[in-house]
Amino acid sequence: MPSLTQAFIGLGSNLETPLEQVARAVQEIAQLDQTELLAQSRWYRSKPVGPEDQPDYINGAVLVSTALDAEQLLDALQAIENAHQRVRKIHWGPRTLDLDILLFGQHTIATERLTVPHAYLRERNFVLYPLADICRDLVLPSGEELESLLAHCSSNGLIPIED
Ligand code: ATP
Ligand code: MG
Ligand code: MG
Repeated sequence: MPSLTQAFIGLGSNLETPLEQVARAVQEIAQLDQTELLAQSRWYRSKPVGPEDQPDYINGAVLVSTALDAEQLLDALQAIENAHQRVRKIHWGPRTLDLDILLFGQHTIATERLTVPHAYLRERNFVLYPLADICRDLVLPSGEELESLLAHCSSNGLIPIED
């Protein structure tokens, strides 16, 4: 039996009916091989990072339990991005779907393809607030508590979407 890892995945979209893109992506993640969806955050509207002349984003996060390793999970997430006709043009430019591995258990990974925990997790309110929806008492591999990161991160410009 391969071991199971609990992984947090961040979702984002700002093109082609973003809410539909991310909602569909959650279903696709739930159907991945050897992977079970455990929890989902609220959706948030957020201001773009980087180039500002692009539409607002919809962001959220999910928690999965998976028997995949981190590279296999990245492969699977990139296949989903590609199926959503994601086109890579400019860095931090508009996209139909972005799926990032935020945390992979308590693993710290630094390879050419993967930085885990996600490189900007600490400073992005559109990552920290969704994580808190799922697991308020989360602790990072560094020992940092999500609560204390939240205390230092403004929720400015981040609007939870009511449903
Ligand atoms: P950001 O890292 O600022 O969120 P981005 O999500 O827009 O940027 P992408 O264009 O989606 O960046 O991905 C670029 C590369 O980042 C991918 O090809 C992938 O190999 C690499 N990468 C490194 N760490 C991660 C991670 N934790 N999750 C997803 N991709 C990652
Ligand atoms: Mg990203
Ligand atoms: Mg990405």
